[in-house]
Amino acid sequence: MVSPKRPREDTYEVLPSNSKRLCFATDSSIIPIIVSPIKIKFLVHETILSRFKWFKACLKPGLKEHEEKKIDLPEEDPAAIAIIIEWMYAKIVRPDRNDIKELANGYIAADKYSMPELANAIMDQIRLSAYRTVDGQRIHIIAPPAWLQQIWPNTSEGSPLREYALDYLHYSMSVAPDLYRSEESLSARLLKTKMMEDGEIGLELLWYFADVGRAVQNPSKQVGCYYHVHEEGGRCK
Ligand SMILES: [Zn+2]
Repeated sequence: MVSPKRPREDTYEVLPSNSKRLCFATDSSIIPIIVSPIKIKFLVHETILSRFKWFKACLKPGLKEHEEKKIDLPEEDPAAIAIIIEWMYAKIVRPDRNDIKELANGYIAADKYSMPELANAIMDQIRLSAYRTVDGQRIHIIAPPAWLQQIWPNTSEGSPLREYALDYLHYSMSVAPDLYRSEESLSARLLKTKMMEDGEIGLELLWYFADVGRAVQNPSKQVGCYYHVHEEGGRCK
């Protein structure tokens, strides 16, 4: 019986950047990505980074990142960058990620770094995270008012994330109004503060409720490509 030959370490092929296969070629540089003001370091193979157009462009010869062999992202949330790197290597958003603040930051980063497939996968996870199982029962979590405030300044009109956040708050206020009205409710106090801080959000919500023909729909129950970004006519495979 002939035993299969193991390739020698130095014979691994460097795969082209558009390959779907993972490659950890020995001649791939490791690029540190330094994140947040406290400089948390993530180490990523250059061959992996080069598959994503923003990072590939960032590492082009002549740019500081290419010369220094590192990327600085001082304003990013480390959890958001962790989501991006997990996606780069494994093409998944971990199912145990259910902190919607972190997921929103991941979405905003995916949008900024031109990763629409990841943005769509995060959106699916955001919809799922509106539910928790408590004592064997699946319950729906109401929208935290501060979440919209986090998303609003980091998204533009037409952003699916902004649209989802507005729909989520509109739905939550419609089905559980007392939680947003009672002076004893933290959600009510936060909502009041947020509305006073940012009149644009308040005005947008006012129009939601003024539009009496608008159906009150649970946005977390929308499936498929709802709230996804795609080229015109595109769908998820
Ligand atoms: Zn889709």
